[in-house]
Amino acid sequence: MIDLTNVKKTYQTGEAVCTALDLPHFHCDQGELIAIIGESGSGKTTLLRILGLLDQFDKGSYQIKHLKAEDLNNKQQAQLRNQTIGFVLQHFGLIHDYTVKENILMPTKYLPRKIRKAKALKLQALCLSLNIQDQLKKYPNQLSRGQQQRVAIARALINEPDILLADEPTGNLDSLNSQIVLDILLAEHRKGKTVIIVTHEQSIADACDRQVLMRDGKLSEEGMP
Ligand code: ADP
Ligand code: MG
Repeated sequence: MIDLTNVKKTYQTGEAVCTALDLPHFHCDQGELIAIIGESGSGKTTLLRILGLLDQFDKGSYQIKHLKAEDLNNKQQAQLRNQTIGFVLQHFGLIHDYTVKENILMPTKYLPRKIRKAKALKLQALCLSLNIQDQLKKYPNQLSRGQQQRVAIARALINEPDILLADEPTGNLDSLNSQIVLDILLAEHRKGKTVIIVTHEQSIADACDRQVLMRDGKLSEEGMP
């Protein structure tokens, strides 16, 4: 499903070059539930953004669903991302002058009209499952953090992606809301989705099938029996 080979990503700031990611190999099967852990600055977000086709890399190969990301142009990448990947950001990433409903439906914007209509009909059921059904006409700043994160998750799920990527999805939440968000992600995994969670919290990492540790842009597997 996901295969990275010799992927490198560097950032240049002035004279200095920082190697944010240097991965000989990373593989993830369909339906896996993976935690990516590691200290701040170790490259977790860089990896997740590359997996999510949000950022380009300098070298190497990224195969996703039998397609090579590096062979696709921007439009093809955007299309693949839209159909395949749901991304949950740490800081929710909601648009503040859009209503909750408009935020959730954003990823459907470029879909054919018929499909868009079908998604709009599904919105109610999705929001009911996330307990935000009464918030649709509100604006993000009228919601609690927990509700905002669930709106961000609804937006990630609206196109029914096979892969769900979450970057510290509980980083800004209290323990009750963290548990709610974790339960939602685990439920998506049980439905067969591939779920990759970047997290600082050991309890979340422990709930995953596989833990990978990032250090200085490199990966090592943890928690193997
Ligand atoms: P993490 O998510 O584990 O905290 P990141 O992937 O955000 O780590 O960052 C990995 C490294 O890349 C860090 O050293 C960070 O400073 C650097 N980095 C990330 N994004 C940028 C950027 N846009 N410009 C320059 N350096 C960056
Ligand atoms: Mg990060």
